[in-house]
Amino acid sequence: MTIDSVCTYCGVGCDISAEVEDNKIQKIFAKDEGVVSQGRLCIKGKQGWDFLTHPKRLRNARVRKTFLAKNSALFADFDMDYLEPVDHDFYEISYESAYELAARKLKSITDEHGSHSFAAIGGARTSCESSYLFQHFTRHVVGSPHVDNCARVCHSPSLKGMRTTIGEGAMSNPFDDIYETEFMVVMGSNTTEGHPIVANRMLDVIKNNGVELAVLDVRRIQLSKSATHHLSIPYEANLMILNMLAYVIISENLVNVEFVNSRTKGYEAYKSSILNDSYANPEFLLQIPGYESLVDDIRIVARKYATRKSLFFWGLGITEHLDGSYAVMAITHLAMLTGNIGKRGAGLMPLRGQNNVQGTCDVGMLPYYAPDYQPPKEVGMMTPDLINAMCDGKIKALFNISEDIAHIHPNQNKIHAALGNLDLLVVNELFDNEVTKFADIIFGVKSAYEKTGVYVNAERRLHLSQPLVRATMPDDWEVIAEISKRYGVDLGVASSYDVWEKVRADAPNRFGGASYEKLEANRLRGLQWPVQEEDLPVLHIGTFRTKDGLGSFHYHQYSPRGQVEELLNVKSHEGYYLTTGRILVHYNNGAQTNACDKLSRSHSEDTLLVSVEDEDFFEYKDFVVLKSEYGQSAPLRVKVSSTVKKGTLFTTFHHAKSNINFLFGDECDELIKTARFKSIKVEVIKPDYL
Ligand code: SF4
Repeated sequence: MTIDSVCTYCGVGCDISAEVEDNKIQKIFAKDEGVVSQGRLCIKGKQGWDFLTHPKRLRNARVRKTFLAKNSALFADFDMDYLEPVDHDFYEISYESAYELAARKLKSITDEHGSHSFAAIGGARTSCESSYLFQHFTRHVVGSPHVDNCARVCHSPSLKGMRTTIGEGAMSNPFDDIYETEFMVVMGSNTTEGHPIVANRMLDVIKNNGVELAVLDVRRIQLSKSATHHLSIPYEANLMILNMLAYVIISENLVNVEFVNSRTKGYEAYKSSILNDSYANPEFLLQIPGYESLVDDIRIVARKYATRKSLFFWGLGITEHLDGSYAVMAITHLAMLTGNIGKRGAGLMPLRGQNNVQGTCDVGMLPYYAPDYQPPKEVGMMTPDLINAMCDGKIKALFNISEDIAHIHPNQNKIHAALGNLDLLVVNELFDNEVTKFADIIFGVKSAYEKTGVYVNAERRLHLSQPLVRATMPDDWEVIAEISKRYGVDLGVASSYDVWEKVRADAPNRFGGASYEKLEANRLRGLQWPVQEEDLPVLHIGTFRTKDGLGSFHYHQYSPRGQVEELLNVKSHEGYYLTTGRILVHYNNGAQTNACDKLSRSHSEDTLLVSVEDEDFFEYKDFVVLKSEYGQSAPLRVKVSSTVKKGTLFTTFHHAKSNINFLFGDECDELIKTARFKSIKVEVIKPDYL
């Protein structure tokens, strides 16, 4: 039997097809008619499914022994039907008992400390139905505004920057517009590793259509080999470089005057700010030793971008900085200046990470938006503030779904302390991970390949997934609904269909016309929101999705910092800049990929890349420990590479044992609190055992 569904990994959201026999997957592949996959999948899509049957898969509900003992009075009149030790810390219990314990404890906490002592974090790896019900339960059953998801550590600045300027925080064009474009810019995205099936399209048009590509990055990436222009830029300089591109477009009269006049506002003030800003003039780079040649490169890239039908792609190399939101605004300025938006082959392409991070934001799992990006009654705290509130004892109970906050967030020493300070931590997960080490109650739940649900990929495309195999565990939304019932409110949902109908009613602008029936009929194509009678592949045609239909300019001046400031002042060069990123075979915290035999064997540790120019100065050749003011890593294997420049280091963060995220601190985007993962000064020290 062949079943069509959607890949569970990255934001490309490829359609997949599985050959299944006797409830076992034999093979996953892509059909040629799959609109996203185009018949091709990356290694994660093809090989990343044996986690389903991994012996360590969580297939039951568990309660921490000490939690039971501590709350014995609260649970005294409750007869648990089943209690079996799993290990030193946990008992296995029935799901029904676990729902009851979670609801009782949550009720006692909110009765004593108020509804705002509860928070919900997570959801970008689960379906829209589950994320919707998660925020609904938190806001409308418990009465807490504190909901957030892992967009906080990735693309929240894209949402903020794009909504502020053009009214919609999502990719403007479909991936297939790569076939319609004349020029591509990729900045802060290692597309071949993070979004490989999108990178395939880029490589196709470079090879077959002669389309040119400019890569702007702090290191050389795989795509740089196929790029017409590779611009190695300094750390902490994105906003400066983007403003410089705009400076060239304005000062060389390359502005699309008709577009700016008819579609935007605020241009004159923006123009005057940029032309009077010495840090926006590319000639400023002549003062930065080692980066002088960028002056000409920036002029060439700006001219090509402005005079051709162009797509601008970006990833976390833009967003995970102090000025991520401002940098995204600077990117949208470029599109508005040149009219590279609102038509086929030209647009703004934020490459979102998880397979449903777009959908999870769309259905309101954000502290400042209700479903459909409507204003909520009360704005909740963003995750970094929630962590502080946990440390202060103001947040007492946390429900966490599919987001290992004890691994993927920064400042792990603080997060571990915060989690240890909770009175109740409920976790829905597929495997034991770093956060389950702190959990009081754990629900083993269905994975995406075992359930029905809607996922929205990075190009706003909804796919209805269907189970490839049967499993006995509940779906995330079922756990939420059962806890809600015992908390005192029956949400009246008996199937994912029921929940999706609520989503459509609550998010009519995007999902109103996207019935299960229509999605089923378009399983290999999907539908791009907003979906009414028809769907809409290209946004912003004729008008922006702002209240008055106009795009707006919001200039933010760059002020030198990080490597730019160091080089400018010829400061002595102490320590190294570390940046982190992904590798093709793994996905975020490796929750699923580390439980897939072929994937985990091909990458079992995070390796540290060191510049060939630094090789001689690198004292400890095989393994080193990195140290920052916040913490230190585990020993990391060293590999010399020509992809990083002198003074810089790169590593992945997929393996919890490396403790990479202990190095990063509270520095974050000024507007939206996304952590500064892409740049931190570290000291290189000798491992204890040397
Ligand atoms: Fe899955 Fe992303 Fe690979 Fe497509 S590109 S197969 S969605 S991991």
